[in-house]
Amino acid sequence: MDFTPYRWYLRGRAVRVTLPLLFCFILFGIAGSANQNLYGSLSPERYLTGKFDPSKEPLFVLVGSLGIPTDKRKHYLRKEAAYALRELYRAFRSDHPGVPFWIRSATRNWHTQKVIWENKWYGRRLVGGKRLTAIANPIDRALKILEYSSMPGTSRHHWGTDFDINELRNRYYDSGNGAVVYRWMKRNASRFGFCQPYTPGRESGYQEERWHWSYRPLAKFYLGDWKRMMQQNPRWLEQLGPFAGFEDAVKLAPRYVESINAACQ
Ligand SMILES: [Zn+2]
Repeated sequence: MDFTPYRWYLRGRAVRVTLPLLFCFILFGIAGSANQNLYGSLSPERYLTGKFDPSKEPLFVLVGSLGIPTDKRKHYLRKEAAYALRELYRAFRSDHPGVPFWIRSATRNWHTQKVIWENKWYGRRLVGGKRLTAIANPIDRALKILEYSSMPGTSRHHWGTDFDINELRNRYYDSGNGAVVYRWMKRNASRFGFCQPYTPGRESGYQEERWHWSYRPLAKFYLGDWKRMMQQNPRWLEQLGPFAGFEDAVKLAPRYVESINAACQ
């Protein structure tokens, strides 16, 4: 008696069973590792809201250690973003050997953002040459800060993907070295994965910021997850801890996080 067709039948069944199983394992493996790479040992909530210290997280690297110029402070970025930024910087430097390019801010955690917010809220730092304590209505005061600064828990600077270059004034980029840098960035940054989230002409959100750039390959996931968190629990930001004016300000958060240049979505 010849059993060959029966063996073929069995082998066919084995292939039909093992292939989908193998596919599932690979898929879960990729999903698992992607998740691991996005948040490391941190929970998505903590990561997205900057409740961590980037200098202690292995996913982050000191920007200055990669040969990228910075100001005197220590700035951290996610390794993927920092390596891409190093390539961008080398390309810029080869096109414009004498034009300054430096990082003046990168990852900022919840506490740093709280200090920035509260310095403006309490008038310790002037906004447009004025003390905001002159604005009694808390919503109006928050809106004034939100022209250029995020409230804690809502800044893209928490994500390790975003950084500020050279000068924090749009006019700097109108002429001279600033214009060279900005023109080059607009033309070339996307080749390295970077985009400008706060462009002019958007319907709402922060004002134009020519100095702020973002590493989209990672940031797009954080933006998606931030929105999901907000949908699942609209009060999640309030649970992180208070900051000046938070009772009124947190309601404004989604508008600012979500109103970005389409190239960064
Ligand atoms: Zn910024």
